[in-house]
Amino acid sequence: MIRPTNPVQAWQAIVEGNRRFVNGEPAHPRQDIDHREDIAERQTPFAALFGCADSRLSAEIIFDVGLGDLFVVRNAGQVIAETILGSLEYAVEVLKVPLILVLGHDECGAIRATMDAQEGKMNAEGTYIHNLVERITPTVLEAKAAGFHEIDEITALHIKDTIQEMIARSSLIQSRIQSGKLAVVGANYALSLGEVHPLQVVGIVE
Ligand SMILES: [Zn+2]
Repeated sequence: MIRPTNPVQAWQAIVEGNRRFVNGEPAHPRQDIDHREDIAERQTPFAALFGCADSRLSAEIIFDVGLGDLFVVRNAGQVIAETILGSLEYAVEVLKVPLILVLGHDECGAIRATMDAQEGKMNAEGTYIHNLVERITPTVLEAKAAGFHEIDEITALHIKDTIQEMIARSSLIQSRIQSGKLAVVGANYALSLGEVHPLQVVGIVE
């Protein structure tokens, strides 16, 4: 693969890699000793991925890519934080990635926990679990007000809200999108099928 250098090529590589994974025909590219040694001095990932930390969302596996291909930032429920924005800005400004993929998935435990908390059904002991839930709560309330009650509808809204917050808070990401050097795609990953479905595109990817 020639390293994608623009949003269109990067998105195409993501789509093709996911298709190989879905079809059970992964190529497992760029995972050998030679490649490992070649990239030891410098990384040139072609995309950044900001996704849920769920153990089934293994980035390199579901997009059938290799070492040095993706700059991956994950936390439970893909919740924006200053360290997340800093990591993504680093990927864009220093590593020059042309694509940020924001990836949620069906039956997300973090979204479920937030829904449960809204109904008074969550009893987590950890202080910071509550902090995480508080950050997802506005989306759950927004969804309810709009008449959405299913977890996957709320997850889709959360992905859109996440992208909106990322762009609103990072003027760097904003300006790179405006100049056409960067695109942001929000997508949902279906756990059983292994398929990635785009929900929102900011910038041009095809
Ligand atoms: Zn999740």
